[in-house]
Amino acid sequence: MMSDETIKIPANVRLRLDSNALTANWRNLDVMSGSASAGAAIKANGYGVGAIEVVERLQSAGCRDFYVANWQEAKEIEAYIDSDSSVSVLNGVSIADMPFARASRAKPVLNSIEQVLRWQETGLPCDVMINSGMNRLGIDVPHLAQFDGNLLDIDIVMSHLASADEDVQQNADQLEQFVEALKHVSGKRTSLSNSAGIALGDAYHFDCTRPGISLYGGKQRPEFSEPIKQVVFPETQILQIRQLKAGDKVGYNAKYVADRDHPIAILAMGYADGYLRGFSNTGLFFDDGQKELPVLGRVSMDLIAIDITAAPHLEESAWVSAQYDLPIASRQSGLSQYELITGLGSRYARHWV
Ligand SMILES: *Cc1c(COP(=O)(O)O)cnc(C)c1O
Repeated sequence: MMSDETIKIPANVRLRLDSNALTANWRNLDVMSGSASAGAAIKANGYGVGAIEVVERLQSAGCRDFYVANWQEAKEIEAYIDSDSSVSVLNGVSIADMPFARASRAKPVLNSIEQVLRWQETGLPCDVMINSGMNRLGIDVPHLAQFDGNLLDIDIVMSHLASADEDVQQNADQLEQFVEALKHVSGKRTSLSNSAGIALGDAYHFDCTRPGISLYGGKQRPEFSEPIKQVVFPETQILQIRQLKAGDKVGYNAKYVADRDHPIAILAMGYADGYLRGFSNTGLFFDDGQKELPVLGRVSMDLIAIDITAAPHLEESAWVSAQYDLPIASRQSGLSQYELITGLGSRYARHWV
């Protein structure tokens, strides 16, 4: 028999996404950017949160500059971009990208002299990336002499900080290289800082900043612990309750052995949902009374065991939420805050509140 398409299958993993926290984070980053205006990095589907939903909310809050990685991502959001907003494609423009790029409202961030020459004949707007010392993408400062900026319609001249989450000499070195580059190439606007760079002070702000991770709750530096709020709350349902006896083993390779009799719950979530094995025996869940429910043993692909000693009333189908404050979850799992947020899988029902 065919399945009945009209019967709804409820998801038992979901992401609760906090709209107010997202827009408040952007506003706070905009304020911290001083006289510069904050844009928003929305590459990788808005860091996994959902690029379209993020654009809609941040644009209403006043954000006008959006950054995606490639032209597929530009296409996804194009229909949602207001006529006075701008979209920059950070990975630049290849020969194969040119037909779409010419017709797109998004502009490439030109990363090499080859890309400059490729784009020049279109007469269309672009941004230019300077390599100020990260040696990832961008034009080296000595090579700026090789092209005539007057032949391009340059909006943002930008560079990218490699270590803004640390107080190291490299930040000042990159700033100096960027200032040097600006003597040789000019556009309408200048930009240097990602989220962490915003906390380095006025000298790093230029005309516009490009926060990403902090919009979504990332706190890469102590300056963000107050102004930045958690946006993403992974939640899952209990599939089964069990009563362990002292000595009982839990999960693959028996990485938890009960030292007493106690109840556990089996959750409908696992590493396929981006809750990776680094959380084994270290992660934490909460019930709706914020009781702490530690992860026991190995995280499986689709299942997690938690200790519910603190909340013995929990039953099948009850919802619990993962401890996902990014700095704490990062310490627990050994994953970076970026990996934690971009790695959340495709099984979640996403609901914005
Ligand atoms: C990803 C990215 C950003 C945003 O960085 P965060 O550290 O997430 O704030 C800004 N600029 C460029 C060029 C990027 O690649």
